[in-house]
Parts: sequence; C-alpha cells; structure tokens
Amino acid sequence: MYYIDPHIHMVSRVTDDYETLAKMGCVAMSEPAFWAGFDRGSVDGFRDYFRQLTEFEPQRADWYGIEHYTWLCINAKEAENVRLSREVIAMIPEFLDRPGVLGIGEIGLNKNTRNEATVFLEHIDLAMRTDEQILIHTPHLEDKYQGTRMILDMLMGDSRIDRSRVLVDHVEEHTIRPVLDAGFWAGMTLYPVSKCTPERAVDMIELYGPERLLVNSAGDWGPSKPTAVPDFILAMRKRGHSEAAIRRVVYENPLQFFSQSRNFRFKPPEVPELV
Ligand SMILES: [Zn+2]
Repeated sequence: MYYIDPHIHMVSRVTDDYETLAKMGCVAMSEPAFWAGFDRGSVDGFRDYFRQLTEFEPQRADWYGIEHYTWLCINAKEAENVRLSREVIAMIPEFLDRPGVLGIGEIGLNKNTRNEATVFLEHIDLAMRTDEQILIHTPHLEDKYQGTRMILDMLMGDSRIDRSRVLVDHVEEHTIRPVLDAGFWAGMTLYPVSKCTPERAVDMIELYGPERLLVNSAGDWGPSKPTAVPDFILAMRKRGHSEAAIRRVVYENPLQFFSQSRNFRFKPPEVPELV
C-alpha cells in the first residue's frame, strides 16, 4: 500500500533506509527540524541545517522516488537560549519560500519551562505573520499531559490560528481527546521504547475514528523504527480493517493536511498499487 510518513528525521538515517521505505510503499515524507543530540552553537549552525533539510535530503529521497518535505524551527530543547532562539526565528523566513517547506515545526515544549513557552509563542507569531502551517511536538512521559494542556491553552489563546492547519504530534491515550475536541489534527508516533505502539494506535483509531488522525515513525538518531508505518498497516489488517480505512489514515489524511501548505506539490505515483 502506498503511504506517507508525516514525521521522520531522515538526516539521522542512512540512504539504505530511503531504499527500504520506497520498497515498502512510502511515496512522500515530511521531516520537521529537531534537536541534533547537542545544542547548536550559532544561528549559522541552523542555517546550514535548514540547507540540508531543503537541499540535500530532498535529493536523497528523490533517488528512490520519494517526495521529501520539511518544517523549520529551533527545537524546544534549545529554547533555554532565548537570544539564539530569536536569531533563528528571525532567520527562518529566508527559507519559507523554498520548495518543500510546509511550515513551522516541530515546535512545542520539552520540560514545560517559561523560556520554552516564550519561544513557542514567538514561533506561533512567526507562523501567523507568514501564513504557515504548524507542526507541534508534545513532551515525553511524565511531562506530556501538563505540556499538552499548556500547548493547547497557548494555541487557543491566539484567535489568529486556524486549528485545521495545526498538527499536534506524539498524542497518547491521555492526550488525544482534548487535541481532537479542539479541532486540531493529532499525530500518533509509533516508537519501540516509548510513545505509542502500532497496536495502541489501532486502538485509538477504533475509539476516535480516522478523522484528523495521522501516524508516523519519527525515525531519528535514537532507538526508533523508520518502517513503523508499515507495521501499523499490518496491525490494522490483522484487526480486520478495510484497505480503504487504512489508506485513509496513512495516505489520504496526510495529503489533506499537507495540501493546506502553499509549497506542497505532491504528484501521486503513476504505477498502480498492487494491493
Ligand atoms: Zn520529531
């Protein structure tokens, strides 16, 4: 089945992963900017990273016929350095008209601090001034519930925001409902060590229906599985869901969400699907 991975960090992956994903049916992906595993030292470090995301990664993906899209920001883990964050936010517009840039992300909170909230709100303001979509990271484990509530409060406090153009990612059983009820898109991240398994994602689809729900692998430099979306497809089949229902979640939903970005120029594959 053809599918789209809406959240995967391919800068951390080897070229063989692109080949594997293409063989498994991945036709497009989007890669949010994230933490490199260390704090970058200057705005020029981010400029180079954004060049990698907008120049080289689309090229590597294209070798295997996959369309690569991206989102730009400074990650919440680096937001304690408010001065550097502001320099990066001021520099991002240099890249917003490049092909494949879908919006601002993944912004959010990590430890739910005041500086993180300040930098989050300034990213939101940038997105509103430049008419960009937004992709949001919610914190891990013990910080997730409170952080998600703080994020939703900040988003709902800004009347300029069109909620159908915002994706709140890494939802779990205890955070999915307020995200969907408020009218945002919700992403389930399939992870081997935390967040959500394919089976739990199927549970949530069964509870809430497929509307405004996405699944992604988040494949990155830590323990993660870039082929987690095909695992979800298999888990859906094992539960007896129709091919049309699966396709809605892994293909049509991301298309619907991404199509709201002016730089999304997806060409559906010409070769028909086998299944
Ligand atoms: Zn991520």
